[in-house]
Amino acid sequence: MRRLGFLLLCRLAGCAFVGCGDGGTIAPPIQVAQECAEGDLHVQVDAGQTSVPCAHWLSTLKYYRDLYTSRWGPVGLSEWTVQVVAHIDSDSLPAGLMYTGMTYFTSRVIQVTAATAIAHELFHVHLGSESSDHHNWSCEFGPWEYSVGLARTPDEGGYLPPCEGGAP
Ligand SMILES: [Zn+2]
Repeated sequence: MRRLGFLLLCRLAGCAFVGCGDGGTIAPPIQVAQECAEGDLHVQVDAGQTSVPCAHWLSTLKYYRDLYTSRWGPVGLSEWTVQVVAHIDSDSLPAGLMYTGMTYFTSRVIQVTAATAIAHELFHVHLGSESSDHHNWSCEFGPWEYSVGLARTPDEGGYLPPCEGGAP
């Protein structure tokens, strides 16, 4: 319910949220307030994001991961940690766009501010660090996100580059 309200607020405010993969950089450190895991999904919650229990983040992330897997296949996360944070630096983005996810390949860390972002980040993990600029992104990914309600538009609000083919 909380997440739904958040998304609705965003729709009204006209903001768009995007995810990204940051090929060579180390994840900014967080202050781990909660930690929980199920299978290979290991979640850490930053001290700035503790209004929702870790177990709730875990089940919501698992839901969107399962949604991703049903279309794009499994992505193992045994070497990865998913960190829930309050903010990801979005200064490099055009006005009106905010990062909700970032994949840090060097640290093996995915940071998200919203559970829905896990799908985009899982695709980065699947494609590897070469995908940081989305050059080998699948043309079908954005439209799929849009069709299942993970994005407001089929190109993540204009964030994804014009599609010229890519991973199947
Ligand atoms: Zn991305």
